[in-house]
Amino acid sequence: MPKFSRRTFLKMAAATGAIGSMPVYLNRNKFLEAAEEASIEKVPTLCNGCSNMCGMFVHVKNGRVWKAEGHPIHLKSRGRLCARGHGTVADIYNPHRVTQPMKRVGEDRFEPITWEQAYQEIGQKLMKIVDEHGGNSVVWMEHGTRGKQYADILLDYIGSPNYITHYATCFTSKTNVWPKMVGTTLYGDHENADYMLFVGRNFAGGIIPNGMNKVLKAKERGAKLVVVDPRHCELAIQADEWIPIRPGTDLAFFLALAHVLITEKLYDVQFVRQYVSGFDEFWQANKNCTPEWAEKITSVPADKIREIAREMAAKAPRAFLETGYHGLNAHYQNSVQQAQANVVINALLGNMFKVGGLLPAASLELGQLDKPVPPAKEKGPRVDGAGEEGPYATVEPGRGIPQLVPKLVDEGKVKAVFIYHYNPLRTGPDPEYQKKMKDAELVVSIPIDWNETSYHTAHYILPESFFLERMETPVNVNGHITHLSPQIAYRAKVVEPVHDTRSLLEIMQGLAKEIGASKYFDFTVEEEAEAMVAPLGITMEELRQAGCLEFPATVKTGFPMSALGKPSLATPSGKVEFSVGVYKANGFSGVPRWIAPKVMPEKDNEFRLIHGKQPWHSHHITSNNPYLMAISETYNGTWAWMNSQRAKQLGIKNGDKVTIASDLAQKQVQVKVTELLHPDCIWIPSAYGGFSPKAEVAYGVGVNYNDFLPMQVEPIAGSVMGQEVIVTVRKGVN
Ligand code: SF4
Repeated sequence: MPKFSRRTFLKMAAATGAIGSMPVYLNRNKFLEAAEEASIEKVPTLCNGCSNMCGMFVHVKNGRVWKAEGHPIHLKSRGRLCARGHGTVADIYNPHRVTQPMKRVGEDRFEPITWEQAYQEIGQKLMKIVDEHGGNSVVWMEHGTRGKQYADILLDYIGSPNYITHYATCFTSKTNVWPKMVGTTLYGDHENADYMLFVGRNFAGGIIPNGMNKVLKAKERGAKLVVVDPRHCELAIQADEWIPIRPGTDLAFFLALAHVLITEKLYDVQFVRQYVSGFDEFWQANKNCTPEWAEKITSVPADKIREIAREMAAKAPRAFLETGYHGLNAHYQNSVQQAQANVVINALLGNMFKVGGLLPAASLELGQLDKPVPPAKEKGPRVDGAGEEGPYATVEPGRGIPQLVPKLVDEGKVKAVFIYHYNPLRTGPDPEYQKKMKDAELVVSIPIDWNETSYHTAHYILPESFFLERMETPVNVNGHITHLSPQIAYRAKVVEPVHDTRSLLEIMQGLAKEIGASKYFDFTVEEEAEAMVAPLGITMEELRQAGCLEFPATVKTGFPMSALGKPSLATPSGKVEFSVGVYKANGFSGVPRWIAPKVMPEKDNEFRLIHGKQPWHSHHITSNNPYLMAISETYNGTWAWMNSQRAKQLGIKNGDKVTIASDLAQKQVQVKVTELLHPDCIWIPSAYGGFSPKAEVAYGVGVNYNDFLPMQVEPIAGSVMGQEVIVTVRKGVN
């Protein structure tokens, strides 16, 4: 299959009769038809370019999507969309969508079938599996939790506890730690902060448009922004200081910051006395973690660590260590302890529940449609062991351990796999290992396009309608960035489906009919939505017109206290707990303490492989979009980054092709040689290395970091440890 290049792009445009600078997806007639004078309807809805779900207005002209702009009220967008948001709306006309249900008839062959045939065959196979092996042999996997409300009904009906998300590659350490230590998750109040320390979190790469606005406004006001990251990431461009740290050692940096705050008595003694439990246990475990100790591990000078701790203390409580997640929460053997140490630093600064420090997200209590529920069935233990007695007792069952599913298929414990809006072959470790999923008796993928998981493993592909072609239930607008006033928004259907596709609820209803579960899906999304907004005193019609509505402030500052005047966090002591009892009970340390990364580069040609987002891509999801891939091409976006000194030692120059190899794979890629990367690592952007021949724009462009990564499970939170891999790099491709 051809690789995507500017020439291919233009050839494609020419072949379809498209105008060179205009969208590939509009042929000339369609373009002229859409462009002619016609009224424009602006429909408010929610973006799907990443998980932020920013509010957007979509312009519709002659029944076609024309363009999008940011919703001015919506907290995440505040009138702006990122490049991904603008680009992704065009995917509605992407020729690489799955246009109707498909059935696999060979290794690389599918045939179109009707929805009725698909429901019938899938329903029969599913119930045979449930009869023979029990509901416990069925797994539902999805990216986030959007499908959960419907998946849960199906899983309850067949008696399966196996709901699994992708979060093991994302933020499971954070979500495991914060409820146990703080009883909730807190977010940086960037707008009102005077000092922001970002470690391994790149707001300008994994963009939230209004998140960046807030950071920049704080900077204009005089706030200091310090970015600690092995790579000079996009946020570092805006920072007062960029401090390159040895990847995998953030925990040592945090423990040394705590050491300075405690030994120099810079911490908020009052806050700790009143609101913290387990301080002494933490200190006994970490009193030797001096800045000099940390310097040897992190490569950050001891004096710099002292300086940061002192500056933060001087600005506290309007100072915080950003609680975000990327590098901190799924990538290392010590990611859970990093997340714990993050809580400790912020508590020592006494910034919790304070303006300019950390605040909870505002949210609204939504109603629920009264529906019949399937009769309770005995469910066996979760097949991945998450939250069950055994090695993964502390892993959140609501997240699960997706990287274990291929192994469980191989062992005969999983017989049926439903994969909704999720592409583990691209986002999970070791694609060849992930392909074992195809050996299950039934594999059903519910995607938009021909992603790798659908192409290489699915027995049936049931195409979901594009996000502009379907309505979804309303959502609270919160998380990531704080805001005192809660908002509600919803995803509206903007245009009719272009192809023979269906919403997830319609797909579940079709399947339910075949397995005798119709009465549990006997409702519409409109009915669900109306019931959800009812307690707010609004109607769906009002929300439909506005797209996003804001309510009076609900977030209160000040530490939560009971009527008896005692700290009342949702933790066993009501206080911030530096020591987690459930970790101790399962044989782990209760307090964070130093754990080295699992693997370290040692030889001259060895590097830790690290990875991350680019501002114009959402990992693989946008990599089949020609407009966003054109940006990649313009900026050499597929190139790996390598430190200039290390490159010189290996005789590698900027733009050279190199061979990157681990025990699993050997791949070639061009390199950007730069001083803006820690010498110990090589960085690969996360958008590339597509290997679905039917997603032609992404196919064969760049490399996928997961090709090099073995399947691993961090035992406390279940993460994939996505940067615990050492690769060798050499010049040339032979
Ligand atoms: S950050 Fe960008 S891609 Fe993500 S939802 Fe917002 S506009 Fe869309």
